[in-house]
Amino acid sequence: MRCDQCDRKITGPPVKTATRTLCRSCGDTLDGLTAGVLSGADVGGAVATAGWYSSLRERRREKQEQRRMSGEAPGGTGS
Ligand SMILES: [Zn+2]
Repeated sequence: MRCDQCDRKITGPPVKTATRTLCRSCGDTLDGLTAGVLSGADVGGAVATAGWYSSLRERRREKQEQRRMSGEAPGGTGS
């Protein structure tokens, strides 16, 4: 049995993915890459995006609040 990634003969238990059979070292590399993508770039981007969205929502709510207040009491909060 050979590794589909590095084409070396697999010694010990092979690491099987959905489509390929890998040696232990390639399987570990693949795991590391997957974990890095999941916990690094993607989640970081998702969190950043979520934070950006919530801050945007906060801003819009503030603006609506101000508009409503100025509508109810024109010039009330001004100088
Ligand atoms: Zn390999």
